[in-house]
Amino acid sequence: MITGKNYIGNKLSAEGNITHRTINPKLNIENSTPFFEATGKELDKAVALAWDAFKVYRKIPGVRRAAFLNAIADEILALDQGLINVYTSESGLPEGRAIGERARTVFQLRSFANLVSNEDWRENTIDEAIPDRQPLPKEDLRRTLIPLGPVVVFAASNFPLAYSTAGGDTASALAAGCPVIVKAHAMHSGTAELVASAIIKAAEKTGMPNGVFSNIMGRGRTVGTALVKHPKIKAVGFTGSISGGRALFDLASQREEPIPVFAEMGSINPVVVTSKAINKRLAEIANNYAASITLGTGQFCTNPGLILTIESEKTQEFIKVLAEKTIAIEAQCMLHPNIKKGFIENGNSVTSQPGVEVVGQLKGDLEPNYAATLVATVSGANFLANPRTSQEVFGPFSLVVRCKNEAELLEVIDGLEGQLTATIIAEEEEYGDLHDLVDALENRVGRIIFNGVPTGVEVCPSMQHGGPYPASTDSRFTAVGTNAIKRWVRPVSYQSFPKELLPLALQ
Ligand code: NAP
Repeated sequence: MITGKNYIGNKLSAEGNITHRTINPKLNIENSTPFFEATGKELDKAVALAWDAFKVYRKIPGVRRAAFLNAIADEILALDQGLINVYTSESGLPEGRAIGERARTVFQLRSFANLVSNEDWRENTIDEAIPDRQPLPKEDLRRTLIPLGPVVVFAASNFPLAYSTAGGDTASALAAGCPVIVKAHAMHSGTAELVASAIIKAAEKTGMPNGVFSNIMGRGRTVGTALVKHPKIKAVGFTGSISGGRALFDLASQREEPIPVFAEMGSINPVVVTSKAINKRLAEIANNYAASITLGTGQFCTNPGLILTIESEKTQEFIKVLAEKTIAIEAQCMLHPNIKKGFIENGNSVTSQPGVEVVGQLKGDLEPNYAATLVATVSGANFLANPRTSQEVFGPFSLVVRCKNEAELLEVIDGLEGQLTATIIAEEEEYGDLHDLVDALENRVGRIIFNGVPTGVEVCPSMQHGGPYPASTDSRFTAVGTNAIKRWVRPVSYQSFPKELLPLALQ
């Protein structure tokens, strides 16, 4: 049952009197449950509990943390259809997506459980003493990774399960030994409370300390700001807008003790389609990209928002076919009215720039929160001359850039802001000519895809989901896959330590 309350540690709490309701974007109505925004006192209590819990939790052996993570996965599955119904009523996303995202969430939790069930992930290194080394003896040195402390996770609006309450950030931080306080996304408060209840049940069943997890509700920046400023918070995970991630990054760096903010933000994910590929596979590429641009109503951080081509007659035909196929896909609902508003405003902003031409826009009577898919095109020269043409339009949108030649295409890539992904669509006979292109892309992005689409992010150790700013605030780390755990730990060396005082992993 959804109560509308916060979880302050293991207890439901509603001390404040400010409430908000979530919205069913498909029906364009408010859902009935009022959610109580946390007060400053509740927030302080959650952090104090997390701080006390940290002292215990950081010492709990990996196998027990693994049992906790597996129990969270079990409890989420036990929420069954109730969770799916709330998810769909708060996000406008279809049931199939909800079920798929739940499976991904459970898989992530179990992957981190698997990772920490032994101590290898800590990159333990041991340099044994050489007492008779000349001219000076060498000391015994052992290095391992230890957790940072309580972490605040900002839930993502576009992944109510997999990047929210028990999503990748929470799972990796809990796996690392850090207590987590989630700032729920106000538009998914019911989904957040249900998943939080599963985490609390799992914590109680597996004997985790009270305060290892809290779920805090709020909107209008107050709660999030206070959490990031709190001196006992030691790191932040965020998925959302560039303005939000940047504001939290600045806030965290201005603290007396600055802390890391791992924010995954905007990306337009350039796709380079070579002329040879267009000549050979025009319809196939257009089909694949129509599906990728519109997948999840375009509300993926890896959505292909920028397609780079070399101008030709065949390219013009490709753009026309791509636009036709993309807008032929049925209109879909967006996550909430603000995202729809942003989609319209940013779409208008790009298409009103000099030289930008709309080649396809889904027309007709759309329901209020449904998106009118949009495909536009611009020349390489106009794109290069105007940074506003490269702004992110979060939703089913793509801009096709027609470069006059390869040199201009490389110049366009060099001028791009940091991106999560880039994609190359090319033919085998030209692979040998692509080295400059690969070099240019490598320099701007975290993941390069070959002859595929950027949407669909595999959860595995080799995944890199994070790129140069503004794709993320720290391109050295990933937000997806088991390496995401590295965001929440720091190295410590132990010199000449007695065995019994060393962490178990180093003994
Ligand atoms: P958002 O506005 O960035 O908000 C996400 C979370 O961050 C919310 O909990 C919000 O808290 C908090 N927040 C944002 N700015 C803050 C600030 N200055 N201080 C403290 N807390 C702050 O993202 P959104 O609501 O999910 O969507 C808005 C836009 O973000 C979208 O239209 C899209 O452009 C972009 N977006 C991008 C991605 C991506 O993967 N690249 C994903 C989702 C959204 P409050 O609720 O208290 O405001």
